[in-house]
Formats: sequence, structure tokens, C-alpha cells
Amino acid sequence: MNTDYENSGALPSEDVLFDSWDREHLWHPYTSTIDPLPTYKVTSTHDNRLVLADGRELIDGMSSWWCACHGYNHPALNAAAKEQLDKMSHVMFGGITHQPAIDLGKMLLEMAPPSMHNIFYADSGSVSVEVAMKMAVQAAISRSGSHNKTNFLTIRSGYHGDTWNAMSVCDPVTGMHGAFGPALPVRYFVAQPRSRFGGEWNEADIAPMEQCLKEHHQEIAAVILEPIVQGAGGMWFYHPEYLRRLRNLCDQYGVYLIFDEIATGFWRTGKCFAWEHAGVQPDIMCIGKGLTGGYLTMAAVMTTKDVADTISRGEAGVMMHGPTFMGNPLACAIALASLKLMRGQDMAAVVAKMEAVMRRELAPAARLPQVEDVRVLGSIGVVEVKKPVDVGAFQKRCVEEGVWIRPFGRNVYVMPPYVTPEADLVRLCRTMVILVEELPQ
Ligand SMILES: *Cc1c(COP(=O)(O)O)cnc(C)c1O
Repeated sequence: MNTDYENSGALPSEDVLFDSWDREHLWHPYTSTIDPLPTYKVTSTHDNRLVLADGRELIDGMSSWWCACHGYNHPALNAAAKEQLDKMSHVMFGGITHQPAIDLGKMLLEMAPPSMHNIFYADSGSVSVEVAMKMAVQAAISRSGSHNKTNFLTIRSGYHGDTWNAMSVCDPVTGMHGAFGPALPVRYFVAQPRSRFGGEWNEADIAPMEQCLKEHHQEIAAVILEPIVQGAGGMWFYHPEYLRRLRNLCDQYGVYLIFDEIATGFWRTGKCFAWEHAGVQPDIMCIGKGLTGGYLTMAAVMTTKDVADTISRGEAGVMMHGPTFMGNPLACAIALASLKLMRGQDMAAVVAKMEAVMRRELAPAARLPQVEDVRVLGSIGVVEVKKPVDVGAFQKRCVEEGVWIRPFGRNVYVMPPYVTPEADLVRLCRTMVILVEELPQ
């Protein structure tokens, strides 16, 4: 395999861009070892650009799955990382604390719903969902005195991560239930609200939730869902009234409400967090993804003083979780720098501008025969098509056109870094429209 280009002295461009060892040995997300989709080699990144091994630059539409909100290699985040690295990159959080964790926590509470009071640092989004669910179970048992009140209720088309319990509340059809079958705990699912964000509220939307809570609240510790924007499970934006009604029902039936804001956080939907669209506060809230500006894996679970103290009054007397890399100082320092960057600018205006450009530029897609729906909220743009997209073929065309977009199922979507210049945003959207038009009808 290698001898060919060793003799010629130059790598054929195919081998520069695609690594055969990687293909043979490295697992990528949701990948077959028998027939893996191509993985493009990236050698560096800057601003809103990915630089490929063959020297080409791509305009990034994905923010590396919602994370790189300030783009790549941001000088302020690099500086924070380097400064913290010379002091201390990690120290255990059991029995020890440090300034980066304290400063980050203070700033998070300033930005969070006012009811949030206690913070648990976790090492990834999925882990934070596990922790949130454990919190709800511990608090529900402590509050009700019943060991039966430990199940969960959610809406369809959700996505909450890939670990066991997170998986159990992902959409049972588009999620992973099929692959794991009876190995997963059985949860309650109800239809997701069909009233669109920005459209009319349909009272019938809340009925399945109301019915399920009425019948099963004795078994349910919490309702978990993504507020306003359902991410990887369907890229759907729903009406804020749903959350207001849900909050009332949860209070009425003594069920906790968990918001998974891992994707929606940090102004992605135009507000600092998506709960602000509805004005209702959760009992427990997960954040992650954009938290460190895409530099390191870190997430957090926030909760009310009431939930935290209820757990502490329970059987165990403590919150039963403690990851090795909890509160990693390097991640905390970078997250703090990222939050400062956001608070130093008018983020609502930055995102509103992106929203206006994306609305204008994606609108023509609505007339294409391949397209089911076009929707834009904040800096998220979605073209929902009628048939599942061939990801490999679509990405090949994206790279040829100089953009990076990874469709999922029937959704071709972008959530570009906030530093994306307007010309690049326009090019990203126009390329989306062109490539969707090329899809088979
Ligand atoms: C990505 C995501 C998760 C999982 O986060 P990881 O860091 O990938 O474990 C959970 N919930 C939502 C809403 C997400 O978008």
C-alpha cells in the first residue's frame, strides 16, 4: 500500500486526505468497520475554517457539533488554556477546590435561570444527563418516600446522549432503542408538540403529556426534554407555550422538570438559554457542548437549592456521583474565558443578524420539490428534505464546494460559529440550497 507513493516521492491526493490506517483501525461516531464512510483529514483550524490535509479550506457549518461557538484557535481561549496549563492542568475535586471552578460557577449562576443554586461539573453532555437523572431519582425518593417514583417521561424525537440512561430517553425510533432492545430501561414517551415556534399554539399538543402524567405520576421522577429546540433527534423548533403548560403539570403532579440545554445553550437559539423563550424555569438543567467554546469536554448540571437539599436529606445523604475529571481546572479556565467573551459582546444582536441572513438565504429551498420544510431559529438553519440523505455522497459534494456540513437523516442543517463572516454565512446557505436541489427527488 505504502510502496507506491514512497517510490514516486509524492502522496496521491486520495491518500493525503483519507488515511487507510484510520479506516482500518479507528472507530468514528456511529461507524461500520466493514463499510465506513470516508473521514477527511483535517490538519489545522482557524476562525470559521477547517484546513484539510491537501491544503483546501472549508467554511465550517457545524461548529464541531455545536461546540466551537467562537470558531477555532481563538486567541483569548488559547491564552486562557496556556496560562492555566502552567499553573495546574488537573487536580482531584474530592476534598479540593480551585479558583477556575469557583469563578466559572459564579458566572454560570449569573447566566442561568434565577432558581438555579447548586452546580455539578460533569465530563460530557451524556454524563451530565446521567447525573441529572440520578439527581431526580434521589430527590424524588427522598421527597416522596417511595421507591416506585423512579421512572422518566419524555417527548418523542428527543436526543440526550449515548450513555445508557441518556439513550433510554432518546427517541425510540430515530434513537438507539432498536439496537439495544430490552437492555434499555423502559421509559414513558409522548408525542412531541407539533405547534411550531413562532406559529399558533394548538391546545391539543399538551393533551398526551397531561394524560400520561395523570395516569403514571406515582412512577415518574421527572420529565426530561430539550426546551424549544430538539437537536439531533429531529431538529424541530416548538412553541414555548408547551413548556409553560408542562411546568404547571409537573408542579401539579409532583414531578421534577429537567431541561437538557446541552445543544441550545449559550445563545444558539438567540437567547442565552432556551428556557428564556418560555420564561419557565426547570428544577434541573444540563449544559455542555459550547461550554468550553469547543476546546475540552465539559458539562454541568445545575439545580435548585430545594432539589439539592432534598437529595442531601435522603437515604444516601449525598449526591451519588463523582467523576475522576470533575471540575477539571483547564476546562474551567477555558470555559470562563469563553463566557467572558460572550458577555463582552451583544450576543443577542450577533445571533439575530445570523438568523436574518439564514432566513433570507435558505428561503429559496422551500420551493424545491425535495424539501419538506425550512426553519431557522437563532443561528440554527434547517432544511428538512423528504427522503433520507446519503451522507457520504452529500459530504463529498460539500467538500468540493468548500463547506463542511454533516446531514443527519432527513435534515440538512447548520449551526455555524458566531464569528462566521457574513459572506461565508451566505455561501454556506447558498451551497446548502444548491446541494439539496441536486438530491434525487
Ligand atoms: C450532544 C447532546 C448530548 C450529549 O452530549 P455529549 O457531550 O455528546 O455526551 C445530550 N443532549 C443534547 C441535547 C445534545 O445535543
